[in-house]
Amino acid sequence: MASFDELDNIKFPPLIEQYERKIYDLRQLIEISKGLNSTLDYNVLIDSILLTCMGQLQLMNAGIFVVKALGGDRYSLHRNYKGFELDHSIDYSFSLRSSLIKFIERDFRCYAYDEVMQNIDEESSLVLRNLKPDLIVPLQSKGEINGFLVLGDRINKTDWTETEQEYILNIASLAGIAINNAILYEMATTDMMTKLKIHHYFQAVLRDEINKSKKYSRPLSLIMADIDHFKKFNDVYGHIAGDEVLRKVAITIKESVRLIDVAARYGGEEFAVILPKTDINEAIIVAERLRTNIENTTVPWNDKSLKVTISVGVTQFDSETDLDNEALIARADRALYVSKSEGRNRVSYL
Ligand code: GH3
Ligand code: MG
Ligand code: MG
Repeated sequence: MASFDELDNIKFPPLIEQYERKIYDLRQLIEISKGLNSTLDYNVLIDSILLTCMGQLQLMNAGIFVVKALGGDRYSLHRNYKGFELDHSIDYSFSLRSSLIKFIERDFRCYAYDEVMQNIDEESSLVLRNLKPDLIVPLQSKGEINGFLVLGDRINKTDWTETEQEYILNIASLAGIAINNAILYEMATTDMMTKLKIHHYFQAVLRDEINKSKKYSRPLSLIMADIDHFKKFNDVYGHIAGDEVLRKVAITIKESVRLIDVAARYGGEEFAVILPKTDINEAIIVAERLRTNIENTTVPWNDKSLKVTISVGVTQFDSETDLDNEALIARADRALYVSKSEGRNRVSYL
């Protein structure tokens, strides 16, 4: 049996500390997992991954590279990077086929800056050299890379221990899966042709916003828009030209509204925009801006410049009379019909 003196020499505390550390890390990972799984909104998620890394790893600089939009072919540095001094003449993005991506997608591990620099071509090195992160960590889901982290200096230490790198990879795994889920959700709710939200999603958001409008007594408006004489347009220029115009109209609609507004393809050549926290007067201004922007948009087609106009209907949710989505949509539709019957390319409200 060991004497008290000998017991003193047995190194219990470090082992217990290690286990305590392990339990703490696992608890943290559960919290991180909950946090990352609580949103399917792609941009909110990317921000939250970045903030998680900064907080958990105590970094002075960190950034995340992901595709900007559905079907994008480059990983771009997300706008909320922290601590890096960027050279604004450089495009901080990498093609999905760049040598950097090819190098880091092979193994799921943390890559040191020097190792990566020795294995990539000049084009990729130029961009990475300007960030000079300590570690580059791929994000992936089901073996497919879907972004990567660039992690810079830490607040106190310099070298990353193996345990720390393992912890980073655990966070990267959770982040990669969450990104994949958000992308799948985005795909399931987006009309692939126009990249606007689909009808079903629009109805779900409208129901949600109506409830919030009632609960918090805040205004809510709805815009419905329809392309004028589009049947004739297709007849004259062809369906493919029509499709191109639809895409351009969709982009213009998105660019004319705020990020919190939800723009949807309601039907064939009909669009709807949900405007939370917006009363009828503000909604009319948005609708008018939308109409003018589309009127001023041209779509190059062969050697021609194609143009279309839209007719618009606007209305505000009325908690006294509107029972559901239907009532609100029907009124916006009636306003749209007024615009059509009064000559098209105009905004009406009811
Ligand atoms: P109005 O000014 O009264 O709205 O006239 P319109 O011709 O636009 O209205 P109508 O509803 O009669 O026709 C809608 C046309 O939109 C018919 C259809 O071929 C076209 N359209 C609907 N979806 C698409 C699409 O995805 N691509 C193309 N190219 N055309 C489409
Ligand atoms: Mg039409
Ligand atoms: Mg129509």
